[in-house]
Parts: sequence; structure tokens; C-alpha cells
Amino acid sequence: MKLFVRTFGCQMNVHDSERIEEIMVRAGYELALSPAEADVLVVNSCTVREKAWHKAISEAGRLGIQKRRRKEVLVVVAGCVAEQEKERVWKLVPVVDLVVGPDRYKELPAMVEEVRREGGRAARHGFDAGQPGDFLSTHASGKRRAASAFLTVMKGCSEQCSYCIVPSVRGPRRSRPSVDILGEAALLVSEGARELTLLGQTVNSYRDGELTFGRLLREMDQLTLLQRLRFTSPHPRFMTQEVIDCFGALRTLCESLHLPVQSGSDAVLARMKRRYTAEHYRQVAQGLRRGCEDISLTTDIIVGYPGETDADFHETLRLIEEVGFAGAFSFKYSTRPGTPAAALEDDVPEQVKAERLAKVHEVIERLSASARALEIGRTVEVLVEGKGRNAGQVTGRTRKNQIVNFVPKQRTVEELIGQLVWAKVRQALPHSLEGEEA
Ligand code: SF4
Repeated sequence: MKLFVRTFGCQMNVHDSERIEEIMVRAGYELALSPAEADVLVVNSCTVREKAWHKAISEAGRLGIQKRRRKEVLVVVAGCVAEQEKERVWKLVPVVDLVVGPDRYKELPAMVEEVRREGGRAARHGFDAGQPGDFLSTHASGKRRAASAFLTVMKGCSEQCSYCIVPSVRGPRRSRPSVDILGEAALLVSEGARELTLLGQTVNSYRDGELTFGRLLREMDQLTLLQRLRFTSPHPRFMTQEVIDCFGALRTLCESLHLPVQSGSDAVLARMKRRYTAEHYRQVAQGLRRGCEDISLTTDIIVGYPGETDADFHETLRLIEEVGFAGAFSFKYSTRPGTPAAALEDDVPEQVKAERLAKVHEVIERLSASARALEIGRTVEVLVEGKGRNAGQVTGRTRKNQIVNFVPKQRTVEELIGQLVWAKVRQALPHSLEGEEA
């Protein structure tokens, strides 16, 4: 039996898909290279943005075409769309056989068996809140791992930002026992991972008894084989001094942070229920730069939130310039059913949203080009991921998370994959750097 998983959305979903594959492989499945050769087709989907929801639903329908050739093929909708829509998925996409929410992946092999044996359909959703919680830890693979790996430290979110569906589809915040996190981290590095990214919806709100997130970062930093440590996605409200002080002080903690701000206007932030001010965000950014002058900061921006005036928008532009973001994911606000903001009038005209988004893109492009230009002439450490954009090049990321394509001196691409290599940056391109092995 073969399994094919199609993933849409965030890093959390990419990680969940890897765990779904592991669970199914342990149940005897092999991984298929394409949908055409799979017996079980999974769409693991995000629903934070309307576009991702549409993509997931249409992909489930598209994968269902495989049933015309082999009617025993099963189609599964997993993840946040499954949790949000539950059995309604069957109305939206009748070819779907199974619906499984993010806290129920371990039940997938049994669900598949049940539907194969008895026919019909099956759905499992709901959270393990109030129980110890299942964090789908990685098991020993016996093989060499990719050099970069994700590690879940907490799940769910209790923040209730007014535009966000996550609390309803991922449940309340639950932190994983630190002993399990450190055990999985040790396993991952012993199998070849050199860079770990700690995952959680508000990852820096992590707490295990007296053990805070800052303390967890310090414990991780003790892993001798670990070279790089990152975390995503932090919330500005939980950027405590203890966490800020880790940047520039811990050997492994990389000089980059994606810290979503969403808006530079206090009025909009209050309506979004973000529970911090623009000034708080500025102070966090300044604190990070005090300990780690060269840190690369990136962010998320929403334009056109209900009630956003021109003056509010200019506050956002001002904050972007002041912080000097090296990159941003920016979006036009769109109403998501089931969120508190859905009750607000979506009153910023589409044309105004488009103009504001274009302006944000323009400013961010300029800032990120300046950030890349600063790297020219520097020698940077690159974790090599694979073949580069041009023949003879390899590609990888710096500690500041910038993509570098460079020409190796003597070693082949295969020899360099997963290695930390020093490269001299010769030029900055629109979205990457180019150079040669130092
Ligand atoms: S912090 Fe806010 S935006 Fe982030 S997942 Fe939680 S509710 Fe959503």
C-alpha cells in the first residue's frame, strides 16, 4: 500500500505531514512519488487564509480523479480545514472518504482499515486539550536525516486574535514536557540534523512548570552536535527580556527572527486583539539589536483590516521603516468565517487594500535589497540544502536565513548537502545572494 501527502500552508503543516507519513510508514505503508501510484491520498491543509482553504478543497477534488482509474483509492482531508469543516467536507467534496483533524492523526491507519473493511466514510476531529497531549514525536529512523528539522514544543493557541481561525481549529495552548523535547532533539541531531526549528503557534509562550521558553533555548544550546537553533512563530507579547537576552548570547541561536507585527497602528492592533502596542514592538526590536546588532528581522503585515484609516496605514509604514525589516509576508485582510472579526464590516475598499499592499511590497523590497547588499564581500556560513539555481552551484541558507547560491571549490553537490560551508558573497540578486566557496 502506498501513501501520497499533498501539503498546503505553514511550517507547522509541513511538519504535521512528515508525522502523518511516519505514522503511516510505521503501519506498513510506503511513500508514493506521485498521486497516480498511491492507494491513500492525503491533502493536509491550512485554513488561516481563504486562498489556502480554496486550494485544499479543490486539490481534494482533483486527487479524487484517481478514483476513476482505481475505485479502491481513498482520499483524506487532514489538518485545519478538516477541523474547521468536519463532516461538511463531504458536502464540499463528495469524493473524500476520510476527514481527520490535527490532533487525531494517530488514528489514521485504523480509520483507513475501518473504511476498507466496512465501506462508507469516517471522520475524527476534536482536541486532546486537558490531557497530556500527543505531540507526534519523531521516532528513530535508522537513516541519515536532512540537516534541518522541525521540532514541536507546543500546540494550539489561546490568544484569540480577532481575525484568526487557529484557536478554533488547533485548540487552546498546550506545552509539551521539556524532557520529551530534549529527548527528540537529541535523537534528531544524532541522526544528522544540524539545524532545529522549534515550532508552536505562540512558541515563546512555552512553559513547562518553572521552565520558561528562554530556559528551554538555553537547554537546547547545550546539545553539542546542534549547530543552529531557530523558533517560529513567536508572539511579541511573549518576547520577555529572558528570551531577548538569548540572541547574541547562545552559540546556536541564529541571528534572525520572524516576529509578526500585523500593524503599526495601536488602534488597529487593539481591534485585532493583539494585546501589545507598536511601541512595545519597537522596544523588542531595539532590545534584540542591542544584544545582536546584525539580527535580521522579518514580519507579517495585514493591510485593510476593518476600520484601517490612511493614518493607521501610515503608522504601519513608519514602523516598517523604523524597524528595517529584511522581509515580510504581507496580505490584504479578508474575512474568515468563524473568527470574531467576521462580525465587523469589511469596510476598506478592495482598491485601497490593493494600493496599500503594493506600497508595503515596495518598501519591503527596498529594505530587503539593502539588507542583501550589506552582505556583499562578507564570508558567510551556509547550511547546504541542494543544487543551486545555475549549473555547478549549490544552494543553502545563512544563519540570517538568506538564500545563497555558490560555486563549490572541489567537493560535489552530493558531498556538500547537509554540510556547513563558508562562502564569500559576490553579488546580491532580487531574492538571494551569489558567491563562491571561501
Ligand atoms: S497568536 Fe493570534 S494570529 Fe497567532 S495563531 Fe494565535 S490567534 Fe492566531
